[in-house]
Amino acid sequence: MEKADSVIYLDNNATTKVDPAVVDVMTPFLTEWYGNASSVHSFGGQVRQHVEKAREQAAALVGARPEEIIFTSCGTESDNAAILSALENDIRRRKVVTSRVEHPAVLGLCKVLQQRGYHVEFVPVNRRGQLCMDTLVQMITDDTAVVSIMWGNNETGNIYPVYEIAEIAHQHGALFHTDAVQAVGKVPIDLGRADIDFLSLSGHKLHAPKGVGAMYVKKGTPFNQFLIGGHQEFGLRAGTENVPGIIALGQAMETAGEYIEQENTEMARLRDRLEQGILRTCPGARVNGNPLSRLPNTTNISFEYIEGESILLMLDQFNVAASSGSACTSGSLEPSHVLRAMGLAETLLHGSVRFSLSRYNTEEEIDFVIEKMAPIIKRLREISPFGHDS
Ligand code: PLP
Repeated sequence: MEKADSVIYLDNNATTKVDPAVVDVMTPFLTEWYGNASSVHSFGGQVRQHVEKAREQAAALVGARPEEIIFTSCGTESDNAAILSALENDIRRRKVVTSRVEHPAVLGLCKVLQQRGYHVEFVPVNRRGQLCMDTLVQMITDDTAVVSIMWGNNETGNIYPVYEIAEIAHQHGALFHTDAVQAVGKVPIDLGRADIDFLSLSGHKLHAPKGVGAMYVKKGTPFNQFLIGGHQEFGLRAGTENVPGIIALGQAMETAGEYIEQENTEMARLRDRLEQGILRTCPGARVNGNPLSRLPNTTNISFEYIEGESILLMLDQFNVAASSGSACTSGSLEPSHVLRAMGLAETLLHGSVRFSLSRYNTEEEIDFVIEKMAPIIKRLREISPFGHDS
């Protein structure tokens, strides 16, 4: 493999670098303290204490109580577990309300639920990706089991009014779940003041390793376990605990709390610098999403008449890693479902690039990317089959 440290990594919504301090904290639990946290002997018992410390660290970042945190394997598991549990909780309620811009971890499950005979309604969004709240209010009815709306969107960074939506859901006796995989650690979250039943989060989005996540289940909210087996995690999530992952997640969440202010000032400043630099130097570039309410690290920019993938490939030649909303499926380039839901014109839909920063990015890196973008866009416009060089 090539040397990794020369990459300019602007794809942090896909995954993040594990914080070296997190590696230091977790490593002894791979090498020395490998006991099973559920064992009776004191070797396991000591490990258990560290798992419980991690639970406290995780709870503190989101304003929860430790006993409201259940460790899982990833954000997808947390999303699935919460929604399926809510449906089992009251089998007379057969409806799920979600949005058109959710992550596949929610949308994919919802598709399966439709095949199983559940009624799923998808709240539309406007051109800026904001939820149509009037429609949402109408969709939530007394037969709704669960409303699932993400906290922050992985593609545009848009932040959704989850506190308010949770209240609306509860007025109809529905449970409320939020996929906060992109929001935790980037925006302040205080579950103590919220009426949110379930929240999902994932380690690898906040500088912990892949393969660990967590779910918040509000005290008093009924929860039916998703993984059935042993008595781990208060009997709510079976399976031997991923101790090193859990320790890492706890540490990463504590550190995220220490950086949250810096991320909302310094990192947001770098994101804005990148965005403005690109808008200034690349004609036909437009920002997607709601600039007034966004995650501090994300910008999604469309370049008219150009394929986002071509931009990514050219950036890759300079060792710059970013991403586009499109997924290459069965040989055809499917545009992002999020941008499509926002009603972007076809000329912009295929030409989007998402830049997502972390606290490890520097101003030099941002300036380097700005400098490279203008000639890339110019070159791609020249060879565009649409012949536009505006
Ligand atoms: N939800 C959102 C908003 C995400 O961005 C992701 C990952 O990209 C997930 C859920 C899935 O998380 P995980 O990769 O931990 O399963």
